[in-house]
Amino acid sequence: MKTLDDFDLSGKRVLVRVDYNVPLDDRFQVTDATRIEVSKPTVEKIVNDGGRAILMSHLGRPKGVESRFSLRHIAAEVSDTLGVPLDFVSDVVGGRARAKRSRLRKARVLLLENLRFHEGEVQGDVRFAEQLAEWGDIYVNEAFATAHRAHASTAVVARFFPGKKAAGYAFEKEVSAIKRVLKAGRKPVTAILGGAKVSSKITGVENILPSVDNLIVGGGMAFTFIQALGGRIGGSICEADKLTVARRILNQAEGQGVKVFLPLDVIAADRFADQAHTKVVGSDRIPAGWQGLDIGPKTVARFGDVILRSKTILWNGPLGVFELPNFAKGTMAVGNHIAQATRDGAFSLVGGGDSVAAVEKLGLQNRMSCVSTGGGALLACLADQTLPGIAALES
Ligand code: AMP
Repeated sequence: MKTLDDFDLSGKRVLVRVDYNVPLDDRFQVTDATRIEVSKPTVEKIVNDGGRAILMSHLGRPKGVESRFSLRHIAAEVSDTLGVPLDFVSDVVGGRARAKRSRLRKARVLLLENLRFHEGEVQGDVRFAEQLAEWGDIYVNEAFATAHRAHASTAVVARFFPGKKAAGYAFEKEVSAIKRVLKAGRKPVTAILGGAKVSSKITGVENILPSVDNLIVGGGMAFTFIQALGGRIGGSICEADKLTVARRILNQAEGQGVKVFLPLDVIAADRFADQAHTKVVGSDRIPAGWQGLDIGPKTVARFGDVILRSKTILWNGPLGVFELPNFAKGTMAVGNHIAQATRDGAFSLVGGGDSVAAVEKLGLQNRMSCVSTGGGALLACLADQTLPGIAALES
C-alpha cells in the first residue's frame, strides 16, 4: 500500500475520500469535528506540496437528494478546522461538474457535495466511480471508517488510478496499529462491546471471537443477550428479531472457549431522560416500565477486574447512554479501567464513532494506545478480513 509520501503532489489534483460523516445539531452545527481534524495532515501535505485537494465524503443516510444532509452545512467548519479557504461544489458529476471543474483552477481545496445523493455511490457503480475519477490525477483514501464498504468512492474508484493511489496518513496509521494488535495480540485478549444495537455489530462480533479470550458486552445491546437467556429486561432496548443470533453468538463463544461477561446489575430509569428516577436492579430482573440505561456498580467491578488482567483490549461502543451525565458513569469507569490497564502495559485499541466520542467527552483519548475512527471497519480488520478499501489501494 503506497502512502502520500511516495508521490510528488506538486501541480496534481488529488481526489481524497475523507470521512466527514460528522454529528450535527438541529441548527446544522458540527458538534464533534474529530473526523475533520483527522484529515488535516493529509490535506496540509497536498497543499504544501503545491497540489490541489478535492475532498469527497458521505454524510448520513439520505434517500436521494435531501438538503438536510448537504455537505454545504459543514463547509465553513471544514475550512476553519483545516485552516484553508475552500470552495464547495454542488455538482459532483455530469456536464455541470465538468464545466465547473475547468473554472476552478485557483482553488486549492474543494469540497464535493454528499456522495450518497447519488445511488451509484452505495451500489459501487462503476460508471459513477469513473465520473468521480475525472476529478483527480491521484486518488487518496483517508476514510478508514468506511474501508469495509465496497462503495464507488471507497473502493471502485481506485481502479481508475493504476499506480496513482495511496492511503492518507490517518488511514495508514490505523491499519498499522491494527496489524500490530493482530501480530502482537498478547493474551489475555479482551473485547468490550457496547452501543445500542447487536444488529450493526453481529458480523464483527462473530468474526473476532476466534481472536479473543474474553468478551464483555454492555450498553443497550446487552439486553438482547439477557432476554435471549430468559431474563426480564422491562422496557430496555432490545432487538426481538436478534434473539436467535444472540443465542448463536453465546454458543459459539462457549464452543471456542471465550468467556462472555454480561451486566450483572444495571441503573434502571423510569424514563429515557437524565432527570428520570433511577434504581439499581439485577440485569435480568428489570421491572416493567423501567429501562436499563447504564451498567450498575457490581458490573463495573466485575468488568474492571477482567480488564485489569488483560494484555490486549479492544473497545467498541459505550456501556450506557453516556450522552446523559447520570448514565455516563459505567462508560467512564470502564474507560478509566482501560486507561489504567494501558498504563500498566496493556495495548488498548478504541474504535467506532460513538466510542471515540465517548472517549473524548470523558477526556480519555490520550490514555489509550490507539484511537481508531473505524467501527465496522475496525472489527472486520481485526478479524483479518480483506477490506475492500484496503484491497483497492493494494491492487
Ligand atoms: P452504537 O452506534 O451502536 O455504538 O450505539 C451508540 C449509542 O448507544 C449511544 O448513543 C448510546 O446512548 C446508546 N446506548 C448505550 N447504552 C444504551 C442503553 N442501555 N439503552 C439505550 N441506548 C444505549
